[in-house]
Amino acid sequence: MFDFVKTVLIALPKGFYTTFKHLFKKPVTLQYPKEKMPMAPRYRGLHYLEKYEDGSERCVCCGLCASACPADAIYMEPAENEKGERYSEVYEINLLRCIYCGFCEEACPEEAIFLGHEYEFSNDSRDAFIYTKGQMLANRPTKEKPFKKIIRKVRRIF
Ligand code: SF4
Ligand code: SF4
Repeated sequence: MFDFVKTVLIALPKGFYTTFKHLFKKPVTLQYPKEKMPMAPRYRGLHYLEKYEDGSERCVCCGLCASACPADAIYMEPAENEKGERYSEVYEINLLRCIYCGFCEEACPEEAIFLGHEYEFSNDSRDAFIYTKGQMLANRPTKEKPFKKIIRKVRRIF
């Protein structure tokens, strides 16, 4: 009998009060995929390859990113253009191996590779996770994020 009274007089009002309190609060959940969470500036998502202003590729296929990669996820084949400049004819990242550590970005002396904010790249085919150079160049953000500009400036100082 005492337990019943305790439930009705204390536990129930307490529960209703908690529910009522949250009725007018702003929900913390988002209606994904219609709404998307803004990513932190340092978020490391899908990679992209950068170009110079004249449209030429920054990557010179030096292999430093592949050496720095702890997951052995980067594969490249070098070639030379008609001016004798070196570039990567093949440049691939195995996204199933990649752990998104960002070491490739840090190792690159040409500021050619960056990890962007893209995170929607699920697929049901393993082959689709071999991310090619063409895809990485196409994935370049149209407007460079201010955070990436800061990275460039800091690298030029040191
Ligand atoms: S983010 Fe890390 S694991 Fe992924 S390709 Fe770059 S260095 Fe390798
Ligand atoms: S992305 Fe950078 S580090 Fe990797 S091969 Fe190209 S120039 Fe070298």
